[in-house]
Amino acid sequence: MRQDASQTKARVANLQDTCQDKAMHARVKSHMPGQRDKGRAKIKNRELYKELALHQSPKFMIFACSDSRVSPDVILNFQLGEAFLVRNIANMVPQFNQLRHSGVGAAIEYAITALKVPNILVIGHSRCGGIQRLMSHPEDNSAPFDFIDDWIKTGLPAKTKVLKEYQGFDFKEQCNFCEKESVNNSLVNLHTYPYVETGVRNKTLEIMGGYYDFVNGKFEFWNYKSHITKSITIPLFPQK
Ligand SMILES: [Zn+2]
Repeated sequence: MRQDASQTKARVANLQDTCQDKAMHARVKSHMPGQRDKGRAKIKNRELYKELALHQSPKFMIFACSDSRVSPDVILNFQLGEAFLVRNIANMVPQFNQLRHSGVGAAIEYAITALKVPNILVIGHSRCGGIQRLMSHPEDNSAPFDFIDDWIKTGLPAKTKVLKEYQGFDFKEQCNFCEKESVNNSLVNLHTYPYVETGVRNKTLEIMGGYYDFVNGKFEFWNYKSHITKSITIPLFPQK
């Protein structure tokens, strides 16, 4: 049904009334008619928008954590249309499983077969709550979550490896190692998707791991070929 202007105005006013949080209130207001061209929502490149209205051709598929401190667009300065994103708890890629992981599977299938994305980057990060849970549960005897514990089991091979190779390190350090090792586990799991395997074999697809350390202001990345390559670290702000 077509809504008239007064109905829309009433809906927006109602939405504003239900937003108790001031920041959210301001965000809603910034999207109201007449406000859209102000501030960050300003359209800077009309040609780009015209092109993106017709099609998308992203150069990267990115897996990143849902953590609010980890935005791939901000970290790597992606513009609209450059990155096809999947965000979930602890930036994990599960193994190919049509019954359990159709959401992730659909995103990978679409990115590779329809969009022909030439790069996949999995980004881990410092102080990841999902990895801390993976490393502590069930040993801490805490009550299980409805969904989280089942999901983060995706990273169990990484946890096993870290506990074996980094015995004697404290919990925090083991979590740091696991944040990176879990990325490698996801890179291995990516190869269980036939579209990824074919792309890598035909050299039309590159698989990369990344680690965003927002504590020390560094971004590190590495390649996955038949082995994990040595990482390269880029400082994000002047180091002490
Ligand atoms: Zn995280």
